[in-house]
Amino acid sequence: MSVRAGREFLAIPGPTTVPDEVLRAMHRPAVDIYSGPLLALTDGLLKDMGRVFHTSGRTYIYISNGHGAWEASLTNVLSRGDKILVLESGRFAIGWGESARRMGVEVEILKGDMRRAVRPAEVEARLRADKGGTIKAILVAQIDTASGVVNDIEAIGQAVRAAGHEALLMVDAVASLGCMPFEMDKWGVDVAMSGSQKGMMAPPGLGFVAASDRAREVHKKAGLRTPYWDWTDREGDQHYQKYAGTPPEHLLFGLRQALDLLFAEGLDNVFRRHRLLAEATRRAIGVWSEGQAVSFNIIEASERCDTVTTVRFGDGHDPEALRDYCNKQCGVILGHGIGDLSGKAIRIAHMGHVNAPMMLGTLGVVEMALGALAIPHGKGGSQAAIEYLSENVKA
Ligand SMILES: *Cc1c(COP(=O)(O)O)cnc(C)c1O
Repeated sequence: MSVRAGREFLAIPGPTTVPDEVLRAMHRPAVDIYSGPLLALTDGLLKDMGRVFHTSGRTYIYISNGHGAWEASLTNVLSRGDKILVLESGRFAIGWGESARRMGVEVEILKGDMRRAVRPAEVEARLRADKGGTIKAILVAQIDTASGVVNDIEAIGQAVRAAGHEALLMVDAVASLGCMPFEMDKWGVDVAMSGSQKGMMAPPGLGFVAASDRAREVHKKAGLRTPYWDWTDREGDQHYQKYAGTPPEHLLFGLRQALDLLFAEGLDNVFRRHRLLAEATRRAIGVWSEGQAVSFNIIEASERCDTVTTVRFGDGHDPEALRDYCNKQCGVILGHGIGDLSGKAIRIAHMGHVNAPMMLGTLGVVEMALGALAIPHGKGGSQAAIEYLSENVKA
């Protein structure tokens, strides 16, 4: 006997729930790619992506996922043999660095681990030691979706400037854009990238890159440029050049609708909603962890991010059995542990088009599973989440 019938809820950290309005906006005939509504649509989207990244720099929209946007950002500013510094705090900056390495870039990893944020002071010290300025770029993820950490990009930007270093600061905002503040220009970020299917509430398939003037100067001499990703080609006057071929029309109409939803709610409210639902989730986990079987992956409370929470399972407790129960019995699909946490953790996403019933439902289901599987846990985690929201969401 299961209680699964009804709408399934995907609580994985991407792809996330696509709003019905976005789905409807894509349900339309194809349009001309040389004239008509598509031209103004592109202009508006490029401008509004700048608004989301908070930059007066250039933005580019690729037909790609996040991995493609990684490649787009690297090929446009680096050359074979260049050296870069990757700031470890989970899996994703490491993965981005791995793509660079495979393109012939020398990669140094500033050692971190799965359980904490990047320490800006360590970044500053490493850059100060790079007397000859051999490091050309620094790669960091704002939120690492494997560990559930949030990195302080503003402080890292300050560390780069304090060291007086010229390296480009490149930020992966795939799991954070549209969910928490991102101030590209103010924080001194040179290249930022993201994708459509997480906080941006659109289907997978669009990669976003934003570039500062400094990055576009460096771009002129970059040796890894290829025709498809090349910024200069995409800055051409012809609409056709903006996508290096046929535009992803339907995804663009979907993205337009998703941006309209974000702006209608107000970005500050969107960020506040994420913070509230994330904190409610953390309240529940805090109570459950009293049973000593489950615990937060990120040790320092202030370093836990607002889009996904990674929950570790102690020895003898199987996260996959819990995920299985939530899916098969209740129709809630949770994320699995990745990297070092494979088979040792679950990830609860609270990212994108989510509201209180979705998150309280998810937390209720996780608590139900903890009980059904006899995994020791403090009782009343869901109640703690409810109380937190009652106190913080005023009538
Ligand atoms: C999901 C994710 C990616 C990869 O995006 P894909 O669309 O799966 O290629 C990169 N970085 C972060 C932080 C992510 O969360």
